[in-house]
Amino acid sequence: MSVSRRWPVHPAPLPGEALSSWLRRIADRYDIDLGVLTSDMGHELIGSEEIDTCPPAGFARELARRTGADLTRIRRMSLSGWAPWLLDQMEPDPEAFTVYTRQLSVLLPAGRRRPREAPGWRAWLPTKQTLRACPRCVATSKQPHPYQLMWSVPLMLSCPFHGCLLEPHTEVPGYFVGWEYSPPRPKPAAATVLAMDRRTWRAMTAGSVELPPRQVHAGMWFRLIRTIIDELATPASECGAPGRLIRRIWEETGYPDRAGQTFWRTHEDSPLSVQLHTLEAAATAIDLLESKTVTGRGLDAALFLPRPPMPVYDGDIPDRTSIAYLWARACSAFNEAVEEARGNPAAAQALFDLLLYRRKDASAIQETLGQLQDLGVPVDYLSHKE
Ligand SMILES: [Zn+2]
Repeated sequence: MSVSRRWPVHPAPLPGEALSSWLRRIADRYDIDLGVLTSDMGHELIGSEEIDTCPPAGFARELARRTGADLTRIRRMSLSGWAPWLLDQMEPDPEAFTVYTRQLSVLLPAGRRRPREAPGWRAWLPTKQTLRACPRCVATSKQPHPYQLMWSVPLMLSCPFHGCLLEPHTEVPGYFVGWEYSPPRPKPAAATVLAMDRRTWRAMTAGSVELPPRQVHAGMWFRLIRTIIDELATPASECGAPGRLIRRIWEETGYPDRAGQTFWRTHEDSPLSVQLHTLEAAATAIDLLESKTVTGRGLDAALFLPRPPMPVYDGDIPDRTSIAYLWARACSAFNEAVEEARGNPAAAQALFDLLLYRRKDASAIQETLGQLQDLGVPVDYLSHKE
């Protein structure tokens, strides 16, 4: 079948759907192969992984032109469309790891983790892609089954719609022939995991997340989770005394320290089992922080605590050397002196002499007498020598 230049009838993209999933469903509607579809758009031999990670320049724009779908929405169906929020940039940068994972601190004090080299690192993009899927989403849809962009990166553990854990699968994305004969039994996700994943889903779909003291941008949320993951993977030799907190979290999660890793490597480069156990530990850490069971030592741990009640303003402690303070005191003393001078001839005379301050000329005396008269001080109290 030949493909028309425009695709007036096509399935609409679903919330959170990966771009290759949507294209595969469009290709299925036209009864053609995904490669034929992308070839018709002028891009040869594009695989699902490339489409979902970083499609060629102009690909999303051409797709928007043909389908009439929103260009920004199409770009967000690939990981590259999430820069700079989910990841800083698609191009590898030697500073990327440090910039992304060390700007914040939650569990460990700021600066406690030592610098690390992670050449070619890109946030959340696994060295070896492993697909996972929600068994209930698959069971309730038809082939080619829609699949989520987040199912291809080690960021979420569960399906925010069905509340069950994502299950690994090894077939072509969109096809779950093995699951049709032997479907995995859905395992309910722990409340701590669901709480973290539902915030991540909110970040992906609404662009922000509600934390106890305030709302944070999606980019901040992704960096907070990645920071906690990095802290949980910090060797005990670097942690010092705060390492007790790290051990406490791993104990609570039920896995060995650092998910049993004997040497340091990035989350993205770790085996899937380590990634999943570390994500579970991150969810546990957030729950323990929010319930005040543990106290984070990092500067950003406050984002997991309710905002303290606003203190009632009871005035500043005066700076007794400031000009404003000294001037206020002088005004107060002058007003007291005037009040005293209105009924006390001696006080009136002292004030008169002070205001004249060594001036003896007639104009100065008359000016000062006039000022005191205006202030209500009887001038007949006063004697003066011109
Ligand atoms: Zn689901």
